[in-house]
Amino acid sequence: MIELKGIGKRFGAHSVFEGIDLSLERGEIIVIVGPSGTGKSTLLRCINFLETPDAGSLTVGDLTVDASRATREQILALRRRTAFVFQNYALFANKTALENIAEGMIVVDHMPKREAHARAREILERIGLADKADAYPASLSGGQQQRVGIGRAMAANAEVILFDEPTSALDPQWVEEVLGLMKQLAAEHQTMIVVTHEMQFAREVADRVVYMDQGRIIEQAPPSELFTAPKDERTRQFLRKIL
Ligand code: ADP
Ligand code: MG
Repeated sequence: MIELKGIGKRFGAHSVFEGIDLSLERGEIIVIVGPSGTGKSTLLRCINFLETPDAGSLTVGDLTVDASRATREQILALRRRTAFVFQNYALFANKTALENIAEGMIVVDHMPKREAHARAREILERIGLADKADAYPASLSGGQQQRVGIGRAMAANAEVILFDEPTSALDPQWVEEVLGLMKQLAAEHQTMIVVTHEMQFAREVADRVVYMDQGRIIEQAPPSELFTAPKDERTRQFLRKIL
């Protein structure tokens, strides 16, 4: 359902990666791990054109976009099929939890406001924040803000949700509630690509773990394999440090 072929990205003279190939089935959950500065965020951002890839092609569902000659319409269509959850939540500070979740449905999907708000209330129920509909982000805990961030991604009804270290900015006491919500989505067979250092989450939830190092996919395997019998020395060293 998702296929990246030959994706490349450089910033000026610095090539972050080239020739990245990666594919996912519908309902599959992959976790990307690797040292910082390796290109995990950039890769995720390329998938919905938060960064413009320089080369390669992206397929999401029935849409294929050639990076080097993507049209505005194609980029918008791709963004509709992919939702992004940011490390720092990136909520609108001047909008309530309900409005943050409803915003995309109103602006992107042109849904009537009443309907968008009704849908947003359903989502607030699902993320366990029904009583926080009218709260502004500043009055919510980090965990609650990130659940709103995930609720906003759920509202997009995207084919795939991209998570970029969704728990790494949180105080430790909020990490579990956010991972819990992600597990709930996983149990509903939401297709997800998750960059995280939460190895226990990867073990429990991932269908496949992808190890990335210096802009390369070094190896990928189900967590039971990758964590117990990594094939590459770089993967072994990384896991030795983190596990
Ligand atoms: P990771 O998420 O694995 O830590 P990133 O994707 O953030 O890695 O970064 C990969 C490389 O790309 C790093 O060398 C980083 O400095 C560089 N980089 C990322 N974003 C930018 C940018 N907007 N401009 C210039 N260099 C960038
Ligand atoms: Mg990153």
